[in-house]
Amino acid sequence: MQNRWSEAEAAKHHGLIGECVYVSRLLGSDRALVSHGGGNTSVKLREADVHGDPRDVLYVKGSGWELAAIEPEGFAPLDLARVRRLADLDALSDTDMVDELLQARVRSDAPDPSVESIIHAILPATAVVHAHPNALLAVANTPSGPQRVRDLYGPDVLVVPYAMPGFRAAKELATRLAEVGTDYTSIVLLSHGVVSVGETPREAYDRLIDLVDIAERYVQRFSSERSRGSVRPQPPVERLPLAQLRFEVSRAAGRPCLMRQHRDQTSWAFSQRDDLAAVSRQGVATPDHALWTKPLPMLGRDVATYADGYRDYVSSHSADRDVRQRDPAPRVILDRDLGLLTAGPSLGAESASADIYTQIIDTIEMADGLGGFQGLPASDIFDLEYWELEQRKLDRVGVGDEFTGEVALVSGANSGIGRGCALALLDRGAAVVGVDVNPAVVGMTDHAAYIGVQCDVSSLGSLEGALDAAVERFGGVDMVVAAAGLFPESGLIVQHDPSAWTRAMSVNVDGLIRLFSLVQPLLALSPRKGRVVVIGSKNVRAPGPGASAYSASKAAANQIARVAALEWAADGIRVSSVHPDAVFDTALWTEDLLLARAAKYGLSVEDYKRRNLMGVEITSAQVGELVAVMLGRAFAATTGAHVTIDGGNERTI
Ligand code: ZN
Repeated sequence: MQNRWSEAEAAKHHGLIGECVYVSRLLGSDRALVSHGGGNTSVKLREADVHGDPRDVLYVKGSGWELAAIEPEGFAPLDLARVRRLADLDALSDTDMVDELLQARVRSDAPDPSVESIIHAILPATAVVHAHPNALLAVANTPSGPQRVRDLYGPDVLVVPYAMPGFRAAKELATRLAEVGTDYTSIVLLSHGVVSVGETPREAYDRLIDLVDIAERYVQRFSSERSRGSVRPQPPVERLPLAQLRFEVSRAAGRPCLMRQHRDQTSWAFSQRDDLAAVSRQGVATPDHALWTKPLPMLGRDVATYADGYRDYVSSHSADRDVRQRDPAPRVILDRDLGLLTAGPSLGAESASADIYTQIIDTIEMADGLGGFQGLPASDIFDLEYWELEQRKLDRVGVGDEFTGEVALVSGANSGIGRGCALALLDRGAAVVGVDVNPAVVGMTDHAAYIGVQCDVSSLGSLEGALDAAVERFGGVDMVVAAAGLFPESGLIVQHDPSAWTRAMSVNVDGLIRLFSLVQPLLALSPRKGRVVVIGSKNVRAPGPGASAYSASKAAANQIARVAALEWAADGIRVSSVHPDAVFDTALWTEDLLLARAAKYGLSVEDYKRRNLMGVEITSAQVGELVAVMLGRAFAATTGAHVTIDGGNERTI
């Protein structure tokens, strides 16, 4: 475990709060220390109140802020004495605790304080840092873990039995501190994590890193040299089994889910363990993990049985409590042939499952040599998973937008109309796979829900690679926007250029029918039924002289879309076309070409762009909006439609 403190970096942050920001980011950016939303930090400052009287203020991490990205305003300033006194109570309900913490804020615009604020308050040190380090949990979460931790760290480190985070963990700690004094530099909270204290955030950070380093070395000494070489190679992406599984997960969840196949060696090797059934069913390493991963992963592909098991777990632990049952779909799947898969109803939820389960695997493997990983009992996990305060974290992820949990594949996504469609779909919550012959498509946007794949739609192999990438990352394809198109150089029929003709046909026609033939089985497995929009052209109904190759190829593409609408309707897949014209912010239209065309008609470029009945300019973004609407609910009962977006053209009207 590397201590990543850097004087140069630290100097960019000012004061104790600045130092705490820096330390928080160091902790938060190391997945071996905290994963997804976990961990918290604080400092105590003496400040003057409104009367000028001195008052101790606890600046504690605000709920909803990630340590890795925290800013000074991410800390909630609380009246320290008031929060500390809460630990004197024998019991405190969640509602009362939240009320008390909110009322203890000394600034009304501060974020909600961490649910672990009382722990920070009762420790007298100026700085307190709390994390859930994998190596430490690997040592502690084993049959003789508590004793090992005591032996490993000696008398400076207090070991406290597990209690549910929030008031109960704080009360447990306060009781222990009252018995043994507060002379500890760190505290191990069994089955939960570690707290280190210091006079400065740096001192607390150094202590925490030292403890984790000791745990890592200890784990290494006992590492069981599990041979990874003997694991068979992971099979290539199998699109249909993955899409089928995602369909079933989505059905159990009651809404579309994204599902990712992990193809790294560690995840694959873990999924191949002979003792997988035993080690993967030990529960989570630290309680708040259960929120994102569910208490147990699903082994194999039987979603219905998993969902029944989850419902049983909820009913047997909720007893007389009134709980809002979460959907029973798995968030983590381990399958002999598909490997590790993580799922969730949004990209944020799926990423959290992936983030956390990767750390759980790490922890389980570290505990291998120490007698094996032992998770918390199901009842403790249930208490945390159904803790109202934790459920709020899920609420924050929200129900999402129109296309949240759905996947769109957009061809020709690097520029113009394709790009406009990709951005409009991202804006409505879809995960988007942008494909384009231009390799720049990979970085077309840095939106988290976007991946770009270089792909020549006229090549079957290239298209298969793009679909593999889509299914590997997101689990399926629900929507297709076929926007890849080639506009060959114009020429009269008497000047027929066979190579320009072939190029136009291979992209605009062959590319489309190949994409259609490959993607149909995926669309048929879309949780909300597949949808396709083909970007046609005004030329389908109103061809232009000199554009025989383009007009003929677009007309053929249009006919393919119509036949697909007929053939696929029984599977609920709808296929419509959009016919744009005079969209000039595309790769087809260079400055020079615009000037030349405008001059040909004796118009300025501005007037040329608005040369339609309504006199309006049409942009790629507008086409994107229209396509997104056609892929959405408004067109749920429509297939085979042809919608123009051209400002009005008497030849198409
Ligand atoms: Zn914690």
